[in-house]
Amino acid sequence: MSKLRFRVVEKAFHKKPVEVIPPSERPSEYFGKYVFNREKMFKYLPSKVYAKLTDVIDNGAALDRSIADEVAEGMKKWAIEMGVTHYTHWFQPLTEGTAEKHDAFVEHDGKGGMLEEFSGKLLVQQEADGSSFPNGGVRNTFEARGYSAWDPSSPVFIVDDTLCIPTVFIAYTGESLDYKAPLLKSIQAVTKSALDVVHYFDPSVKKVIAYLGWEQEYFLVDEGLYAARPDLLLTGRTLMGHEASKNQQLEDHYFGAIPPRVAAFMKDLEIQALELGIPVKTRHNEVAPNQFELAPIYEECNLAVDHNMLIMSLMRKVARNHGFRVLLHEKPFKGINGSGKHNNWSLGTDNGILLMGPGKTPEENLRFITFIVNTLMAVYHHNGLLKASIMSATNAHRLGAHEAPPAIISSFLGTQLSKVLDHLEESTNSDLIALGDKQSMRLDIPQIPELLIDNTDRNRTSPFAFTGNRFEFRAPGSEANCASAMIALNTAVAEQLIQFKKDVDTLIEDGEPKISAIIEVVRRYIKECKPIRFDGNGYSKEWEEEAKRRGLDCETSCPLIFDNYLKPDTIRMFESTGVMNRKELEARNEVKWEMYTKKIQIEARVLGDLVMNHVVPVAIEYQTKLIDNAYKMKSLFDADEAQTLSAENIAIIKQIAEHTGYIKEHVDAMVEARKVANKIEGQREKAIAYHDTIAPMLEQIRYHIDKLELIVDDQMWTLPKYRELLFVR
Ligand code: ADP
Ligand code: MG
Repeated sequence: MSKLRFRVVEKAFHKKPVEVIPPSERPSEYFGKYVFNREKMFKYLPSKVYAKLTDVIDNGAALDRSIADEVAEGMKKWAIEMGVTHYTHWFQPLTEGTAEKHDAFVEHDGKGGMLEEFSGKLLVQQEADGSSFPNGGVRNTFEARGYSAWDPSSPVFIVDDTLCIPTVFIAYTGESLDYKAPLLKSIQAVTKSALDVVHYFDPSVKKVIAYLGWEQEYFLVDEGLYAARPDLLLTGRTLMGHEASKNQQLEDHYFGAIPPRVAAFMKDLEIQALELGIPVKTRHNEVAPNQFELAPIYEECNLAVDHNMLIMSLMRKVARNHGFRVLLHEKPFKGINGSGKHNNWSLGTDNGILLMGPGKTPEENLRFITFIVNTLMAVYHHNGLLKASIMSATNAHRLGAHEAPPAIISSFLGTQLSKVLDHLEESTNSDLIALGDKQSMRLDIPQIPELLIDNTDRNRTSPFAFTGNRFEFRAPGSEANCASAMIALNTAVAEQLIQFKKDVDTLIEDGEPKISAIIEVVRRYIKECKPIRFDGNGYSKEWEEEAKRRGLDCETSCPLIFDNYLKPDTIRMFESTGVMNRKELEARNEVKWEMYTKKIQIEARVLGDLVMNHVVPVAIEYQTKLIDNAYKMKSLFDADEAQTLSAENIAIIKQIAEHTGYIKEHVDAMVEARKVANKIEGQREKAIAYHDTIAPMLEQIRYHIDKLELIVDDQMWTLPKYRELLFVR
């Protein structure tokens, strides 16, 4: 082992868990300590202001600017009591992660001194000097102005000495430049259209809520080992590294005991998450060594998205306090499961009913089937878009690999629900029986509840699986903003529910009773969306063939998958629901293609450097040793004997020459290919070139590096190996 590598491995190996001293209170007492939640609003705001603000939060009432000053005053008072000195508009640009710009509360008091100032104006809106955030050309440099505006539906919170205000980020011309603005619009669209449909069943419902419960997967790596791997440091993944002799074959890590150093990290993270009002609940090991998962209790979709963004930055911070680095990249290690983010999504009502869950009466179950079938229709019509919504250069490594999810979006319902849908599809109107003046039906639906509670009926290969009272969208990447997938899904379901209402109303206008009108449309939809239902193995070759026949989107090239955002059906969907317009969609795609190109470009550069600075020199040094040995053999033995004795070494000398030769040649070729690609004007075409020509070269070069890693003397190899990155903790 090289000296450096030996030092970092030894050090990592002997690290002790950091002692975490839990707060003296119980979680129920410190939950939300750093959040300006209702309890604090009540305490710090005049009662009239409190009432107005909660009306904005609960019922989406318009924000009355006249209360802004008093809200800001209350927030400031609380924050200063908590030792806060700064505030920031916290927003979600089209990169990964969040952005913030901190300002101190201080202002001149006009008498030569300072005072703490935070006005309603500063709370509500700010100009963000964000000309360097990706915007796809929505703002050229002349009008590089965008502003951030307070989102009152997500509470402000404190991180360190800063009051963080969740905001949307919008161009002065009105286009959204972030994830939050379209997310809020998509939530509004889906909850409004769902409410209209719920009213067929229960006119007393006042409000529908979209829910999201994310599950976050991640890897932990010791920070010393991490620092000794420039590829991890700069790209978030290993661009080289031969598989360890043992990795996940034994599946002994999954649900095994959590290692003590990791357990300390988790405990610390959970305490801090709870203090920030994130209701974390579940933690466990994942399939791969050093891979873990964290999940909260589900929440309203917008809040859940904010909380996921917040937890990712919290994880990064807490990991460092424990001598770890957290890897959120979707595929940090080749040959080992990647990390995803399962988005558990559902709709519920203000009176506590989950619309994706079965009920007790036939009518409740018809409502349940209605929402399931409409969701399936939405996923069916926009399966390509949903795939685009989770696509990125980094998540591309996961898709289509032999792990969830496959590169084709389909939906798994489980045998029970499938049976119910099949039964409904085959039923005729004579199956409907009149119960007094109310139409009801004989659908055998009442037995659903017990059957669905049995969750064993799971298909881990399905990207969009029904799981009892929700759908689990399993394709989003671990590093991604959940909003991207949620915007597409909410909007698709919104559009579909609007269509459903139209179809049902048309039948009712023609004199059809309500219930049979609903059943008739549902039955028609069940037939139409059948191609999206698939209960088999999503990884199989046969499924690929079958999916093509069914007309599902089977594209695997990331830049081409993004085209789904600009298809006429997609644009119509986003425009008709008021979520985004064509200009915004076009701008966003420019950003997506550009980001794709940049990611591959960086990987190519890093690989080139690593190869020429680490791999090739070490390989040649070792080769020189072998050559030296072969020469010395000749001075000890006669020519023939020396030849025989050195045969193996000479074979290795040749192998090294071949591999290093290949590598050098292809690193040069990769540089040339980049030069060609960089000259391409359009972002889309450039991304395609990077995908088609440069990305495959990374893999080809890597193959030879990994071979060298196996040949070269371990004592000389400078970079920590997979077995160390994955098993030392
Ligand atoms: P599993 O790993 O079996 O899929 P977990 O219990 O780890 O399930 O995570 C499930 C996630 O789904 C949690 O975040 C949970 O809060 C969330 N969830 C449960 N019910 C719903 C629902 N109706 N809507 C949205 N999310 C839900
Ligand atoms: Mg799950």
